[in-house]
Amino acid sequence: VIDRPQPLREAHAHLAALGQSLGLVSLADCPDLGACLAIVAREAAKARGCAGAAGWVRLTQARVNGWREQRWPTRSELDQAAGEVPCVVFSFDHHSAAANGAAMAAAGLRAGVPVPPNGQVIETAPGSGEASGLLLEQAAYAAWNACPEPTPQEQRGFVRAGLKHLAGLGYVEVHDLHSQEWLGPVLGEMERAGELTMRVLLYPPIARLRAVAADRAAWESARVVLAGGKLFADGTLNARTAHMLHRYAEPLLGMPRGQCMVAPAAIEAAVREADELGLHLAVHAIGDGAVRTVLDAIERAAPSRSTTGLCRVEHAEIIDATDVPRFSKLGVVCSVQPCHLLTDVEALNRFVPHRLERVLPLRELIGAGCKPGELLLFGSDAPIVRADPGDSIQAAVHRCRPGAGAGDAIAPAQAISEGEAWACFAPGGVYG
Ligand SMILES: [Zn+2]
Repeated sequence: VIDRPQPLREAHAHLAALGQSLGLVSLADCPDLGACLAIVAREAAKARGCAGAAGWVRLTQARVNGWREQRWPTRSELDQAAGEVPCVVFSFDHHSAAANGAAMAAAGLRAGVPVPPNGQVIETAPGSGEASGLLLEQAAYAAWNACPEPTPQEQRGFVRAGLKHLAGLGYVEVHDLHSQEWLGPVLGEMERAGELTMRVLLYPPIARLRAVAADRAAWESARVVLAGGKLFADGTLNARTAHMLHRYAEPLLGMPRGQCMVAPAAIEAAVREADELGLHLAVHAIGDGAVRTVLDAIERAAPSRSTTGLCRVEHAEIIDATDVPRFSKLGVVCSVQPCHLLTDVEALNRFVPHRLERVLPLRELIGAGCKPGELLLFGSDAPIVRADPGDSIQAAVHRCRPGAGAGDAIAPAQAISEGEAWACFAPGGVYG
């Protein structure tokens, strides 16, 4: 048994969103519809009369298929429990929600009125033609996001809560991917007040990198660092929008291999932009098609300086064998979240059964020269999944959920040792 080393680096998280998620009521342990409605009533009593986001009830992590009744609360049940307090119950997978009348009105959602861009996703109750309260996709997001934006003071609170949570798990450094423009100034303030508990590297959207870099001097320090820009190259495997080299087993209509969300020339331009600013570029690429597109663009961009660490690929959940050696050859950091393997088992088996042996090829990456902690980094993507580093250790070493049979392991030949896995959480390398 390898001792859990200290200290640790979380190479991919979303600080403010993590802090905010810690303050929301979770329905993960809710057994049935009745218990859900009781929680709604209790939270509505607290929210009644409060201003801003505090005047809403937003519950997360509902797993309705696990409830005794196996159905969502209706709009009228939520109206009864929450009254005039806007209430949204969000599914664990973020693709559906139930809302009461007040939340639907705040979001401008009405039965029969399509929600862009994918049309009608507001369920109507049989017979009446009225909205049942069940919202899918864009309609679910619209209701969730109709809640007022957090105030600057609330945002500070979220950042503080996120940092405290990560510190409690042993992290001394966190990389925030897709940082808000206010995050640097807020962290700078915390650093000056002696309240900062760890080193934070920031990656605002690449389109805003030049602007953020222009006033970095006002908030940067040894522990609050503008590291680079973030760019999205594709979607996710669960949504079947990750860009794949081969067709999905159950493809979305008109999108058999997912989609690349950015033109190769735009990736090249982003590499040059980061290079000119003396900063890094982090590209979200989950499917093997997106990973290859990004590596090709980096290769073509021919940066002006030593390339090691200039670019990093985030997620890289599926990598074709021919692309594995290109990471070390090009000096590209492979920033993975093995913990996603534990939550994505069903989606992987269903959508990419023909590519399971290419999921997170950690053994091959290390063999091809991606040194743990330097070119191979571990993170969690919290709050999408929890930030506990033990989950990524489990996935990297055993390739399956705890207690699952050996036959359930995904690409077991790609397992690495516990020592190698912990080394992927070690701070240092190209990030100093
Ligand atoms: Zn992320």
